[in-house]
Amino acid sequence: MTLTVVNPATEEPIAELPRAGEDETNEAVARAKAAFPAWRDLAPQDRSRLLRTLAGLVEEHAEELTRIESENVGKPIAGARGEVGMVAQVFHFYAGAVDKHGGETIPVAGGVAATFREALGVVGLIVPWNFPLNIASWKLGPALACGNTVVLKPAELTPLSALRLAELALEAEIPEGVVNVVVGPGSVVGARLIEHPDVAKIGFTGSTEVGRDVMRGAAGQIKRVTLELGGKSANVVFEDADLDKAAAAAPYAVFDNAGQDCCARSRILVQRGAYDRFVELLIEATGSVKVGDPSDEATEMGPLISAQHRETVASFVNGEPLFRGEAPEGPGYWFPCTLVQASNDDRVAREEVFGPVAAVIPFKDEAEAIRIANDTPYGLSGSIWTRDGARALRVARALETGVLSVNSNSSVRVQTPFGGFKQSGFGRELGMEALDGYAEVKTVFLSTEA
Ligand code: NAD
Repeated sequence: MTLTVVNPATEEPIAELPRAGEDETNEAVARAKAAFPAWRDLAPQDRSRLLRTLAGLVEEHAEELTRIESENVGKPIAGARGEVGMVAQVFHFYAGAVDKHGGETIPVAGGVAATFREALGVVGLIVPWNFPLNIASWKLGPALACGNTVVLKPAELTPLSALRLAELALEAEIPEGVVNVVVGPGSVVGARLIEHPDVAKIGFTGSTEVGRDVMRGAAGQIKRVTLELGGKSANVVFEDADLDKAAAAAPYAVFDNAGQDCCARSRILVQRGAYDRFVELLIEATGSVKVGDPSDEATEMGPLISAQHRETVASFVNGEPLFRGEAPEGPGYWFPCTLVQASNDDRVAREEVFGPVAAVIPFKDEAEAIRIANDTPYGLSGSIWTRDGARALRVARALETGVLSVNSNSSVRVQTPFGGFKQSGFGRELGMEALDGYAEVKTVFLSTEA
């Protein structure tokens, strides 16, 4: 059985790979299990050095990885280059974190209590197709730094960069069996990782729907899980904001990666007093997003991932939108930047579109903005635009969401924790927080009685 990998900008096949099943998954888990004791027991400075070597190799091969990611996902080449740059930073960060994630000593009667961070063992990492290498690195970095070995399952649509990364890990002299990549369907390879008794934890990024299956599957063995799931984030624009700046930035907060971004601020909430002016500016800014050939350095938005996904995205646009941009004709799963006026009860404002469609929703005052922004089962990301610092902080504290930015739409950084509230999942990636998801805390009491 094989799997054909397609370039979504041309609909041309770019690779033919063997499709793994249960046997290959079991073999990968066995390799990871065999490699675990030596990797866990490696001196911290050596584990750190190997992760740093991998970071260096990612930098050395940055253009190659960028091209792979751009062709496989249809990402604009400039954006893909930035993502690969982040992958290198992630490995540098966790190389430095290996010997900084320690325990503590706790004052107790009759002796000393100390805590240790123990590696979990073999961890299964299941990732989606929208940021294949980036999201894989967010999990690989902390998992490997803590001394775990891994089986990584990329999405079937986008396995190429993970396979190349596994080769670079070997070139970095990370021992065989520490990083394993298995390419196959989620319902087979993913499901087997979840039920396999030798897999201690599942680090999952994907849809909330599959996240529920992961949680259910993990319950049998009380397997550890962290879940990074969907989002329906709000970009809240108050009338005292720098409207030019907010409007110029808003398209990139939702149309970046063709809207296939869990952090997409796909609900743009605008205070009534500024609504008309903001919408005028937003339409102008959206009209200048450059959509087209992902290999062109000037391109800002590429196609969607597949024909099927394009159909789903199209189903969210009924009637005449506020604005519809341009998109290339011909082969490729193109969809134009689209703005629709909506109420928060409309389907386009409630469900994750995962495409370049933004719902623009008016609000009256601060209380209503908070109510609408929180009126969603999700809670991943969001932005607040205002010149009033106290309001910015007040609203930031009131929003039920894991990652926020004020007068900016940027919320993902290597050094800072990232993850969701509510049905956007639990657990945190990136920063020092991510390490907590890949180690158990062990408490040891040592009696000092004579
Ligand atoms: P998906 O849930 O369909 O698939 C994610 C991964 O899970 C894939 O590797 C898939 O093969 C696997 N999978 C599918 N069914 C499975 C099963 N039954 N058991 C085990 N594994 C299974 O998601 P997708 O369509 O690849 O990605 C889009 C979704 O991911 C969106 O909802 C998006 O919001 C979410 N996402 C979240 C974040 C975040 O950090 N919160 C980041 C990126 C994407």
